[in-house]
Amino acid sequence: MTMFNESPKPTVIRKAAIIGSGISGLTAALRLNEAGVETVLFEKSRGPGGRLASKRLADLAHGSADASADVSVDIGAQYFTVRNPSFRSFLNRYARDPDSGSETYDQWHGRLRYQASDGDWDAFHAETRYVGVPRMTAISRALAQTLDIRTGVRIERLIRPLTGQWHLNDSEGAEYGPFDAVILTVPPAQAEEIILNSHLDPLVNAFSDDIDLMQACWTVVAQYENGLGLDYEGLQPQSDVLQWAGNNSSKPGRNTSGEWWVLHGRPDWSDEHQDSPKAYVEKALLDAFSLATDTGSQPIQVHSHRWLYAKSSAKAGPGHLWFAEHQVALIGDWLSGGRVEGAFESADSLIREWKKTGDLQPRG
Ligand SMILES: Cc1cc2nc3c(=O)[nH]c(=O)nc-3n(C[C@H](O)[C@H](O)[C@H](O)COP(=O)(O)OP(=O)(O)OC[C@H]3O[C@@H](n4cnc5c(N)ncnc54)[C@H](O)[C@@H]3O)c2cc1C
Repeated sequence: MTMFNESPKPTVIRKAAIIGSGISGLTAALRLNEAGVETVLFEKSRGPGGRLASKRLADLAHGSADASADVSVDIGAQYFTVRNPSFRSFLNRYARDPDSGSETYDQWHGRLRYQASDGDWDAFHAETRYVGVPRMTAISRALAQTLDIRTGVRIERLIRPLTGQWHLNDSEGAEYGPFDAVILTVPPAQAEEIILNSHLDPLVNAFSDDIDLMQACWTVVAQYENGLGLDYEGLQPQSDVLQWAGNNSSKPGRNTSGEWWVLHGRPDWSDEHQDSPKAYVEKALLDAFSLATDTGSQPIQVHSHRWLYAKSSAKAGPGHLWFAEHQVALIGDWLSGGRVEGAFESADSLIREWKKTGDLQPRG
């Protein structure tokens, strides 16, 4: 007799559930739709994008806190690369504004520099760097426009009754399904939780080492009323606290008054201060920023955000994990060298494997 979550014979995939709508989930859904496979994405947040994130804030230098003076500041990924020609053609095809049809990303010509251990400053290596326009989430909004995404739904576990197809339970007790396969796109600690709740414990062995490789990142956004007068737009100083500072206002299409800077804490420092009060974190990062830039200006507003799972320190990875006997796959940046482009490549590699092995069956 078949029990819950045992492994009946794998079926071809006509309809897939995707947990998470960051760049990897959105890519997987679009690639599957291209292959004629139906998809439903489940996203715990209010909108798609995941760590491709922008935060809406009132522009105080504009003289008021009303909504018309709102700005969006990139608090997750700061910029991304497009080295892989498949990523370029994917963006060309899908990352277009739903209303105007124009591209939602552009080059960022920011002058970026880092401080070597001897204290000298040098320029970042030459690379074409891109950002979403007018904010990072413009890209995820464009990718999402044709997709079925259920936002505000936190998936807690997968159930596989006698039919052999998957059903999903959310944190409110609602059930969704059936699906022929499930793709988890969440960071490894969150994937472990869903997998253990689903009584699929042995699957965790394939990625348990990755869980501790995810690093936290405290992010602070600071608005300065006037420009700081620096001759660079991004820096990585020698600091025990600050890993990166970027001038968000210098990115294309931002049109903000004053200058908005985004500061990222070092991974080890952010881990250590995971539970520190926001006021402490903000002061520490702002002090480190003042020291690194030799400026005494005080910001007119400061906000902070804690990422528990920001980036993976894994250098490379298998691309994706596919447990064919369970019809469960894992994708995400942490399986493919990190970063936005890695998240795309992870999703792309899974769908290419499925196409090659004939796992997919278009709906007739
Ligand atoms: C501070 C910071 C700076 C970064 N800087 C850069 C950079 O400069 N360049 C670069 O290339 N990359 C950068 N990155 C990394 C980049 O943002 C990620 O590699 C990429 O966005 C990851 O995409 P993903 O789809 O793999 O995961 P995510 O974007 O994390 O997507 C996972 C999604 O799953 C959702 N989710 C989680 N659990 C559940 C659940 N139970 N049910 C439903 N939904 C769930 C989440 O809300 C999220 O939307 C940065 C990241 C951070 C946080």
